[in-house]
Amino acid sequence: MMNLFRDSQTRKKWLFSPAVLPAALFVFSTCMSSPAGVEEHQWSYQGSTGPEHWYALSPEYGIAKDGKAQSPIDIVTADLTADAAVGKPVITYGKALFELENNGHTIEAIPVAADGHGNSIALDGKTYVLQQFHFHAPSEHLFDGTSFAIELHLVHKSSQNDMAVIGVMITEGARNETLMEVFDNLPSDESLRPEVEVNLDGLFPDGWEAYRYDGSLTTPPCTEGVKWTVRALPITMSRSQIDAFRVLYDGNRRHVQNRYGRQVYWVK
Ligand SMILES: [Zn+2]
Repeated sequence: MMNLFRDSQTRKKWLFSPAVLPAALFVFSTCMSSPAGVEEHQWSYQGSTGPEHWYALSPEYGIAKDGKAQSPIDIVTADLTADAAVGKPVITYGKALFELENNGHTIEAIPVAADGHGNSIALDGKTYVLQQFHFHAPSEHLFDGTSFAIELHLVHKSSQNDMAVIGVMITEGARNETLMEVFDNLPSDESLRPEVEVNLDGLFPDGWEAYRYDGSLTTPPCTEGVKWTVRALPITMSRSQIDAFRVLYDGNRRHVQNRYGRQVYWVK
């Protein structure tokens, strides 16, 4: 939490320095426009703009409080539903160039090509193209009340603008070779936009077991209708990789939300 605070202080000083004002205004105006053209209201992970207050920051964020299908959730393994009709995603990942962006809430990797360089998933017969991936520390989803060091979110969108997110728990262990370029080049502020090549195909070496449920975005506007697939097996990162992220973001997670009777499916 202290790291995040210190970061935002540094950012403020940088933004108001006259020498970089034109660049700062450009970054500021870029941050204020979401892809949908909706103005983004200032939100954070602590204090008066933290998760408990998101719903009040904008009329568009009301669902953060009133929604009945919010994310993340605690996945209770004794309470999973098996249904042959609910399958796992078919993942088509390969080598792609990503731009790394520090957006003040997380580090996001955005495919340089609009088609995600062919990175996509198929879920229930529908194709969703990779839009970006990013990280939360500690994890947002819990497994039986347990959190993990980091959670990776791979965000996909269909041609009808439906969202499907894959969540992956990351625990301390062997160095992650697939994400090494990302963690060696984490941008410390908004002015840095390094490009790295990543082959996401190497991300899941040991098969697929996952939990599926219907939820929401875990950041404002917390839009519902998101198809969540949370991988059951964690992947690993080295202590130094985890620390490299936590120096920038430690505590950028929303707490678990009420399930309101939603079913969580076990798929493998
Ligand atoms: Zn996320």
